[in-house]
Amino acid sequence: MRKGVAVSPGIAVGTAYCANKLFLPPAAPSAGEVDIQAELSRYEAARWRAEEDLLVIQKKAEQQLSRSDASIFDVHRSILSDSSLVDRVQEGIIQNKLTAQGALHHALELYSEAFSKFHDSYLRERLTDIRDVLQRVEQHLQNDSVEPDAPLLANPVILVVDELLPSQVVGIDALKIRGIVTRCGSQTSHAAIVARGLGIPAVSGIEDILEIVKTGDHLVVDGREGLVIIDPDAEAQAAYLKLEREFFDFKDHLVENRDLPAKTGDGAVVELLANVNSVSDARAAGAMGATGVGLFRTEYLYLTHPTVPSEEEQVQLYVDVIKAAPAHRVTIRSIDLGGDKTLPFLGRMHREANPFMGWRSIRLCFEHPDFLLPQLRAVMRAAAIGQDLGGDVRLMFPMITTLEEIIEVKRVVRDAQQQLDAEQKPYARVPLGMMLEVPAAAISIDLMLDEVDFVSIGSNDLVQYLMAADRDNPKVAHLCQPLAPPVLHILNKVIRACLDARKPVTLCGEMAGHTMSYAVLLGMGLRSFSMSPVLIPYIKEFARYLSTETAESIVQHVLKLRTTSEIRRYLAEELDKLVPDFERFKIS
Ligand code: PEP
Ligand code: MG
Repeated sequence: MRKGVAVSPGIAVGTAYCANKLFLPPAAPSAGEVDIQAELSRYEAARWRAEEDLLVIQKKAEQQLSRSDASIFDVHRSILSDSSLVDRVQEGIIQNKLTAQGALHHALELYSEAFSKFHDSYLRERLTDIRDVLQRVEQHLQNDSVEPDAPLLANPVILVVDELLPSQVVGIDALKIRGIVTRCGSQTSHAAIVARGLGIPAVSGIEDILEIVKTGDHLVVDGREGLVIIDPDAEAQAAYLKLEREFFDFKDHLVENRDLPAKTGDGAVVELLANVNSVSDARAAGAMGATGVGLFRTEYLYLTHPTVPSEEEQVQLYVDVIKAAPAHRVTIRSIDLGGDKTLPFLGRMHREANPFMGWRSIRLCFEHPDFLLPQLRAVMRAAAIGQDLGGDVRLMFPMITTLEEIIEVKRVVRDAQQQLDAEQKPYARVPLGMMLEVPAAAISIDLMLDEVDFVSIGSNDLVQYLMAADRDNPKVAHLCQPLAPPVLHILNKVIRACLDARKPVTLCGEMAGHTMSYAVLLGMGLRSFSMSPVLIPYIKEFARYLSTETAESIVQHVLKLRTTSEIRRYLAEELDKLVPDFERFKIS
């Protein structure tokens, strides 16, 4: 048995398919053996064939995914023709007398070293894209036929890979893949995002998985606990097969609830919204039973774009998301770059010691009107089209810390409106909200509420700032706990303040989709929750077992408890009494 990171819930039992094509270290070339001209031409020919592949894959991706998701292959094509990469490989052949393959490996080593120094996980993961592209060229060098749309497999299997590459994602058919296990990868890796999007149980981060598992081995993937069991004995296999069946039945049952309204045990309506990063996520939101999009993280457009996306490109993307979203209801967040999401073209002069507390989000936007103004214009222009569709578009700003920031951002919104008026471009005035994710803003919430139309609590950041514990650092994960007493007290204060001021309030951090936190938030009076789409069916089902009155009395008790573990234990006991088979709703 191996323990990894649980990235997509569920149980899968099946046969392993090790679809790994690792870059093996090339044999060291000896000088004189290499025909330089021949190697240069081989490299060129392989590069052109790879380019042809990518065009085919991109077309396919546009059909299967959305245009914006498929744009990752634009990035791949630009990597392929990137002059520094081409120069590096050619230099390797000419100067170091390497074979084309050897030069490719050498270039990859240089990139790997450079990327390993990046602080932020998103950029580090972009090495995956470079690896994907180089692997494609290498396959052509080996005269392997690279079939871009080759069906991965004939029978349903558990896919075991080093890392799931973007071009493999296009070939994935959810019916043929029961589970996914990867050596690399985190919650934000492609494997995690795709697996969750397709509802496939997945575990990442098992270092030696490819050394201990061969194609054909029997595997169990437990995506709730983050476990992989290799060649389980008959008893374990039978037990997990039963769990797998229950998981499928449970999922089928949950999907049946898709079109039912989300209600508490005593009939109060709760709003279950989706957090999305792309058009395909917005589509998935509807399929999962969300009633709208509560958080559209627009920075992913910037992160997958080679330059600053133009206003027109942004209008197109926002309109696509609004069209794809349930009831065309979308809360768009202005770009939240910085922290762990940095862009090379931002031209940062120095590395920040504390990027999460530094020049990020709205702070960065104030210094970059060239980002903020076109984005505000694009949102308001897209909102006009959304209104024509009978939709509802709202705009919110991340990392608001002071009242002055709200006043300033509203001034920029007015500037954008004046420009659009002068240019006679149609636009809609949209409700403006603040993300509540900085403790300072939580403490002074009463002073800010008059200036905003709504509040969205970003608990992921609020918890990390309140507990002074980096949300991405496993060493302090025991502190970064949404159910910690100080977090619950501050959430209670913020929700109360919003309700008293009659300002709509939503919570859009990860805790919205976790059953224990949901129960507490419901008891505090929250009625609007925005979460990863795949968690919506679970919360919708769970909601039925809990009345508002019971949740309120649970919260009364919880707010008196002094430690996180006391709170978790108490909640587990209470919910176990109320919810049949509470274990099924557990999501690690
Ligand atoms: C949050 O901080 O809770 C949030 C939803 O925003 P993000 O996770 O994108 O920082
Ligand atoms: Mg945040």
